[in-house]
Amino acid sequence: MGAIAAAVAGTVPNSSEAAEIVNPYSGPLPKKWDDDVDLVVVGGGGAGLCAALEAAQRGTKVLVMEKMPFIGGISAMATGNFYGADSVLQKEQAIKNATRDIWWQKLEAGEGLSEPLNRVRDNSMLSPVYYGITKRHPQLLKDITWEYPTLIDFLLKYGAKFLPLDQQYPFTHTVIRGYLPVVFGHVADDIRKAGGRLITDTRANKIYLDNNWKTAGIRAINAAGRTRNIKTKAILMASGSFVNNDYLIQRYMPYWATKGKVPSAFLFSDGGLFLNQETGDGITMGLEVNASVDDMAAGFKYKIAPKNRGDALVNGLALTRSPIIFVTPEGKRIYDDSQDYSEITMALIRSGGKYGFFVFDEGAMSTTGAKNFNFQGLVDSGTIFKAGTLREAATKAGVDPDGLQTTVDRFNKDFDEKGVDSVFGKKGPLFQKISQAPFYVSNKHYPVRFKTEGGLETDERTRVLDHRTVKPIDGFYAAGATNGSCSSRLGDSLQCGRMSGRYVAEDIEARKI
Ligand SMILES: Cc1cc2nc3c(=O)[nH]c(=O)nc-3n(C[C@H](O)[C@H](O)[C@H](O)COP(=O)(O)OP(=O)(O)OC[C@H]3O[C@@H](n4cnc5c(N)ncnc54)[C@H](O)[C@@H]3O)c2cc1C
Repeated sequence: MGAIAAAVAGTVPNSSEAAEIVNPYSGPLPKKWDDDVDLVVVGGGGAGLCAALEAAQRGTKVLVMEKMPFIGGISAMATGNFYGADSVLQKEQAIKNATRDIWWQKLEAGEGLSEPLNRVRDNSMLSPVYYGITKRHPQLLKDITWEYPTLIDFLLKYGAKFLPLDQQYPFTHTVIRGYLPVVFGHVADDIRKAGGRLITDTRANKIYLDNNWKTAGIRAINAAGRTRNIKTKAILMASGSFVNNDYLIQRYMPYWATKGKVPSAFLFSDGGLFLNQETGDGITMGLEVNASVDDMAAGFKYKIAPKNRGDALVNGLALTRSPIIFVTPEGKRIYDDSQDYSEITMALIRSGGKYGFFVFDEGAMSTTGAKNFNFQGLVDSGTIFKAGTLREAATKAGVDPDGLQTTVDRFNKDFDEKGVDSVFGKKGPLFQKISQAPFYVSNKHYPVRFKTEGGLETDERTRVLDHRTVKPIDGFYAAGATNGSCSSRLGDSLQCGRMSGRYVAEDIEARKI
């Protein structure tokens, strides 16, 4: 059998043949390496930084490679909601029914976060379970769930400050706005103190495997166009999700790629800064070396956001659960707007509408979630219009004032007379009258897809699996949104990174890779 044929067939060639073999998936190794480390972490976002810290503090020679000029990734800009149980904060604040057993049962059943673990979904926009996540290796998620208390300890240690917890949402821990970048800054400092290195403006684009299918190195290109080949024992892919990769979306999510069904572009921005980070690079590099993928067809998660800012009202109000309503340009409601922010977005997409507006009154400003936001800044930037009357606020925002007034009158009448919204069944603490001046109407908010669930398939030690053998590819790990066996929630991504860094360091120490 020829050397390459033997390699493709997965047989081990004898030593005289071995020298001639070129790995058919990654091609020839470079003749000269520019650097030599134990571990290259691709992506200096939340999962990557957490992983690098764990590995570096265990004595692993780590290099973090980040394609943007700054670190932190989407993780540093996220809303800051962490979901989990048995944390020190839950204990201190005497939050009841917040145990890991209950949380895991909820995850499996799909309660709370609309992400049923084991339910089959049909991926259509009418499916009640299209957000489902179906992991072939749920043990990784379970381990993450069980280690969650250590994640909250870690965030506190690195400077996070949290909003007070709320018994109504016992599993939600919200980091106060502005503290996630602080955490990642301190983590980066400690990576350096432990001997790790971080390089920015450097985009990884190819994995090298040797002829025994072991990780040998990685290729990257920096902002000056210079290619660097780095020899390494292990690669930990933490390059985020694939929300901005049209090819992967068309290949794995054909329903959602159908023109006209979903908003076609997502450019996340915050404070005017436009980013295009989540391009699925780690998944693409993995596919090139025959890695397996999992859960790639899971539906997008959506937010709803103004054109020039990615992260404003819905995160502050809908997600942190304030009494808001969401209306069309005609001033009509389209859904029970006490639901999850993604559900509101889906209702908008299903209705055929392109954009909508949030409406609330002064009463909404007193909620815990609202206090996490600089509303005056949003008013100043024209993201929210404030006025003494509802009609005035509607007119400023471009909503039909008569339509909105009719909607709100009926809504308030239901509150007074029935205690439940007769149109969409909204009830509970988020069903509040909109009657207290001043009134607020947002500018146009559009659906934007903000994260994907699928990615590289790994075992419970975050080792990426070979698609032919379903065995780990030596030295290849994945964490965060790149890891299709983990969920792409913020907390799960960070904890997955911490565990992955620990596993790589242990495997290197035990000379397994
Ligand atoms: C606006 C917004 C708000 C969110 N809020 C929440 C929330 O409150 N709660 C929640 O559970 N989830 C939330 N999410 C989702 C969650 O934050 C992300 O899924 C999670 O942070 C992903 O972490 P990560 O480390 O995998 O990716 P990231 O933090 O995005 O890190 C990936 C990094 O890899 C870099 N990179 C990519 N390709 C390469 C390459 N080829 N070479 C080198 N570097 C590369 C990127 O530039 C980036 O820095 C939110 C998402 C968004 C967009």
